[in-house]
Amino acid sequence: MNPDLHCHSSFSDGNHSPDFLLSRAAENGVTHLAITDHDCTTALEIPLVEHYGVTLIPGVEISCQWETWEVHLVGLGIEINNPELQNLLREQQIARKQRMELIAEQLRKHDADGLMEYLHQLPCTAYTRSHAADFLVNSGKAKNKQSAFKKFLGKKAKAYVPFQWQSLTKAITTIRSAAGLAVLAHPGRYSFSKRKLESFIEVFSESGGDAIEASYGGIDPVMQKKLEGLAERNCLSISVGSDFHNADAHWTDIGEYPRPSATAIKNAIWNHPRWHF
Ligand code: AMP
Ligand code: MN
Ligand code: MN
Ligand code: MN
Repeated sequence: MNPDLHCHSSFSDGNHSPDFLLSRAAENGVTHLAITDHDCTTALEIPLVEHYGVTLIPGVEISCQWETWEVHLVGLGIEINNPELQNLLREQQIARKQRMELIAEQLRKHDADGLMEYLHQLPCTAYTRSHAADFLVNSGKAKNKQSAFKKFLGKKAKAYVPFQWQSLTKAITTIRSAAGLAVLAHPGRYSFSKRKLESFIEVFSESGGDAIEASYGGIDPVMQKKLEGLAERNCLSISVGSDFHNADAHWTDIGEYPRPSATAIKNAIWNHPRWHF
């Protein structure tokens, strides 16, 4: 078993097709790949050329609201035709488009016109700030994506538009009603204090969460150990994934994340009673 349970295709803000992701997974020795696009399942609805011997796990990454924080919930093993799930995703996609319209308005004030026209010609289902960053780079307003976030799109930047996503509890309930496992994505990437992270993971478990990602691209060993401990303490499984978006980003690849410790592996999500891949 060599899984990668978190990555993105070009139907959200990844740069590659589902076929490319699967062939790259095979090249890298990954046995099970979950495609987990932001707020859409289009990658899982289209016909594939082939699976390259890799088991494809249907997934999704939902942006959610918890208190004042934005947190990300990965749903694994979801039934993509579930009406409640698709209703929730549709609402998120509409919300994403509305947010882009507000960002476009802000950018226009800073002499960057044409974001919506740029977005409309993309073949993607869920618009993200990452697409807006590409637009700013293409139109010469930012020298790279990093600086597009720093100058325009990031919190406190010129064209930042705050957003209210679906509540975390609604997202957990919806994932579970679509037969999926509810996984907290990259818990170390939120700006929680140590205490807040601990209490949040407790709340997540009490709200029906099934697992937390205890290893992902770029995690440091101290955080990994902490998350393995928090999973065990809160009776949660652990999940793993690269959060791969783009093959040009040489610091990440499909299947690349630090391996969980031997004790944490016993709690792995692929040993969960509702895992069936
Ligand atoms: P959104 O969900 O619309 O807020 O867009 C967030 C997406 O933008 C994330 O999923 C990342 O892929 C990407 N992103 C966020 N911050 C940065 C950054 N500083 N540089 C490059 N990409 C970023
Ligand atoms: Mn992304
Ligand atoms: Mn995320
Ligand atoms: Mn992601």
